[in-house]
Amino acid sequence: MISLEEVRQKILERIQPLSIEEIDLSEATGRTLAKSVHSNDAIPPFDNTAMDGFVIHSDDISGASESSPTTLPVAGIIEAGMPGDTPLSPGEAMRIYTGAVIPPGGDAIVPFEICQQDGTDAVTFTRAARHGDHIRRRGEDVPQGGEVLSAGTRLSPAAIGLLASVGASRVSVFRRPRVAVHSSGNELIPIDSELSPGKIRNSNLYSLCARLKRWGAIPLPRPVLRDDLDEIRKGLKETLEEKPDAILTTGGISAGDLDFIRDVAREMGEDVQIRKVSMKPGKPLVDGSLGGVPFFGLPGNPAACLVSFEMFVRPALAQMEGRTDGTPPLRSGVLSAGCHLSPGQRLRWLRGRVNPGGVGAADMIDLPSGQGSHLLTGFSTANCLVRIPASELELAEGSTVEYWSLTEEEA
Ligand code: AMP
Ligand code: MG
Repeated sequence: MISLEEVRQKILERIQPLSIEEIDLSEATGRTLAKSVHSNDAIPPFDNTAMDGFVIHSDDISGASESSPTTLPVAGIIEAGMPGDTPLSPGEAMRIYTGAVIPPGGDAIVPFEICQQDGTDAVTFTRAARHGDHIRRRGEDVPQGGEVLSAGTRLSPAAIGLLASVGASRVSVFRRPRVAVHSSGNELIPIDSELSPGKIRNSNLYSLCARLKRWGAIPLPRPVLRDDLDEIRKGLKETLEEKPDAILTTGGISAGDLDFIRDVAREMGEDVQIRKVSMKPGKPLVDGSLGGVPFFGLPGNPAACLVSFEMFVRPALAQMEGRTDGTPPLRSGVLSAGCHLSPGQRLRWLRGRVNPGGVGAADMIDLPSGQGSHLLTGFSTANCLVRIPASELELAEGSTVEYWSLTEEEA
């Protein structure tokens, strides 16, 4: 048996970043920048007011107080969007609205709320203002010529806004991985079919494609591969013609006589390894490449298939796209109930549901019943995988455990 970390490292050594494409900014949320973006402009492009009020020379009202107010004539109005290039003469004020340009000479804003407006021609101040009050400076967000975001940044909605503000209407990002998914097994029937003796519905195709979509990859569902050497060879060859960035199969990789995926991958592929990973679920794994395309032979058991996806495929897809959330740091939480485990040699991943603990409190984790590698009901509401070392047999209520989050960081 080989440790999960060692297998993951071997897999990641083979993964190359995908090519770069230029896309519209409006399509770029969640994508990873492949080239850093610099700004030709300073943002904000001009000094402007953060408040609706009056722009003044602060010196002109330095002596203003409740007992000794200062009144200034109002010389004009500056609205947002106007050039604001008429200078403010000493001893005068101008009405100004949020986002409008500070006119030459003005150095402070007094908000409407704290001045007395005497008709439209004059305004009275009862307190002094400081140089720079309520003024947002040119270049405060982005200096002219400065780097706005560096290559490798995953684009959040706010990052999209920032790039829009500097006029980056097209951005260079890594391509999203196109991932072919094959199920295998004579027992599989389409999910819209009635069951017949010995048959089950092909659920892994759907769970894997759903996982890929949630990740931001493009799933390419492929036909079921029957347990037949020639059919598997033909199916995988046809899939290679689709030029996917990775190929996943599920089932057919254990020690059974009909587990031909394993044999065909070895025959057709390069550096194909047949693993016994020291984890439960997810002991069998085949990894390598087929025609230069990263290949993952995942287990057939529905829960094992998803756990192996998390541990090996997710980190590989992340590396292809320059993302950093492929192998999330383990977090710690507290079990809401005790649990008893059967003895074993392998690290165990239990499906769990984390409930955030709130301020100062630990995250609480519920473990659903039904942890078998063939069971999906408990998995269906899980949002984490709890890592239990092989040596643990009994975990009391309140035990601190580590978990892998099944939900990626939001971009
Ligand atoms: P295998 O590794 O092919 O022996 O499959 C292990 C178990 O997973 C068997 O019980 C299969 O019936 C089941 N299985 C394999 N592929 C799928 C699939 N696509 N959907 C649901 N169950 C599957
Ligand atoms: Mg099978």
